[in-house]
Amino acid sequence: MISVADALARVCEATPVLGPERVPIAAALGRVAAEDVVATRAVPAAANSAMDGFAVRHADLSTVPATLRIVAVEPAGTVVATAVAPGMAVKLFTGSVIPPGADTVVRVEDTAERDGTVAVRVAPPAGANVRNAGEDIRPGQVVIVRGTVVGPADIGVLASAGRATTVVHQRPRVAIVSTGSELVEIEEEPGPGQVVNSNAYTLAAAVAEAGGEPVVLPIVPDRAEDVRAHVARALAADVVLTSGGVSVGDLDLVKDALAALGVVQVFWQVAQKPGRPLAFGVAGERLVFGLPGNPVSALVCFYLYVRPALRRLQGHARLHLPALEARLATAVRKARGLTEFVRVRLADGPDGPVATALPSQSSGVLTALGSGAALLVGPPDMTELAAGNRYPVIVVAPDAVARAAPPF
Ligand code: AMP
Ligand code: MG
Repeated sequence: MISVADALARVCEATPVLGPERVPIAAALGRVAAEDVVATRAVPAAANSAMDGFAVRHADLSTVPATLRIVAVEPAGTVVATAVAPGMAVKLFTGSVIPPGADTVVRVEDTAERDGTVAVRVAPPAGANVRNAGEDIRPGQVVIVRGTVVGPADIGVLASAGRATTVVHQRPRVAIVSTGSELVEIEEEPGPGQVVNSNAYTLAAAVAEAGGEPVVLPIVPDRAEDVRAHVARALAADVVLTSGGVSVGDLDLVKDALAALGVVQVFWQVAQKPGRPLAFGVAGERLVFGLPGNPVSALVCFYLYVRPALRRLQGHARLHLPALEARLATAVRKARGLTEFVRVRLADGPDGPVATALPSQSSGVLTALGSGAALLVGPPDMTELAAGNRYPVIVVAPDAVARAAPPF
């Protein structure tokens, strides 16, 4: 049995980074840039006004008020050829190009316009309210650095640089193989001893949330040849997730099937609760996770080990879920020797977050991991987590840390 930290390190070491693909910029959201993007044009293309007002020569404002003659009007999107000669002004608007001869924009609030002239009451500093050409982007500038997680502003930058497509890391295809002769499809009414294959739904959702493309294969009964045949098909994907059949019972056929298919076992059994039977292996560049069948164990193992691997495949540098420190509301007993991931709910306390353990910590009670639950990390050496102490809490649902009130 290996430790949680060692197991995770082995997974990360074994995980490659997928190659690049070109996608429309709107499809790049949340994905990782696979190459630097170098601008070939300036943004803005020409110096323009940051205000509605008048383009002037600053030298004309040595004494104010100064009265200038309006020689042209230039709405945004139009460009006047008229130069601003001494004693003259061009009326313009936010975004209008600064006409030749002008060096400063006086905002409309500091002027009075009458009969084709403008009286400037307040002289701004030279160059005021002028946005220079290339102020946002210069030609030759790297606007997206390889490794950037593309966000809305990056997509806008790509658009203003004239790039309709961009190159990002591919998304992994993730095959999901649910084993268990007791499993039935969602349309069926489970009889005694039968359960709906909920893991396929849980895992497909978790894969999609982590940026992967889930491929759900049919239920596999606990028969060695069936398990082998389905896992063999699944190995066409970048990542295989099996669920069930990986502990020490007679019907735990997954490990044998993986071995028969040439999957090299990296580890089996981790000193943790839930999820102790977790198996991990590699077949060339492909990753195989043998997840336990218990629904909570399968999802906790996904969050802790599979999700970081899916992120690394997609080129992310930060692989792990966010965590915070929270005070434990009431004491929790735990097994010595195992890292325990206690299902908790977070609330705001007087000195920071407070974590309350959910009443059921059974690995079969998936409801305890729903609706914004989080995972408090109980260290392996402890048998009791004391009330009032602070522990790290892994935030699995971003909504658990969303604010009810804004910070201003
Ligand atoms: P196993 O790891 O195969 O021994 O399964 C452990 C427990 O998880 C058993 O109670 C199974 O019925 C349950 N289980 C296994 N696979 C699934 C699944 N795909 N969906 C829901 N529950 C499952
Ligand atoms: Mg089973």
